[in-house]
Amino acid sequence: MKGKLFVLSGPSGVGKNTILNRVIAASDHVRYSVSATSRQSRPGEVDGSSYYFVTRERFEEMIAQDELLEYAEYVGNYYGTPLAPIREAMKDGFDIVMDVEVIGAKKIKARVPEAVLVFVAASSLDAVRQRLIARGDVSPEAMEERLKRAVWECSQAEGYDYIVLNDDVDHAVRELRAIMVAEKCKTVERIHLLKEEF
Ligand code: 5GP
Repeated sequence: MKGKLFVLSGPSGVGKNTILNRVIAASDHVRYSVSATSRQSRPGEVDGSSYYFVTRERFEEMIAQDELLEYAEYVGNYYGTPLAPIREAMKDGFDIVMDVEVIGAKKIKARVPEAVLVFVAASSLDAVRQRLIARGDVSPEAMEERLKRAVWECSQAEGYDYIVLNDDVDHAVRELRAIMVAEKCKTVERIHLLKEEF
């Protein structure tokens, strides 16, 4: 059986990584899609598991060679989803979760209509600001840019299939897992079982 794509978007600092890490740790059939980016790595990030950190030139080569499912520019850097590992993992029946900003998410939906788009919302912009400050890994200027982008991203949530509210991480993890389970139980996903059985 083929795996499904779950695309998470939401403002920088809303806690997407925390939610995804928890969901991945709790399931052995979910894989994280590691993105490529031209931005500098931050302290604690590991090349090949946080991101594939590449130069702008290498990124442009990946675009030219059609190696990406989607890509977008986000506050001055390229971010994109390598296609080959996703194809491979889905073929092996793994569900894929990914963290993609809204332009890339919409490109994925256009290319793979059965992909499930989930927007992670914070209880307030101030909650996002506080998380970015606590994270302490972006400059004040970069933070302002990310906050501006956050306001715009929230205005784009309408086209998403689901909205998960991250006022509390446990709650958000439960909501995302419930979405994933429900999507796997859809008739279109399960009908073949009945056809095989009866
Ligand atoms: P950060 O620099 O905080 O790690 O990520 C910045 C933004 O890039 C986040 O909103 C994240 O969702 C987005 N992002 C991460 N990977 C990808 C990707 O592969 N494609 C696109 N379009 N956006 C991504």
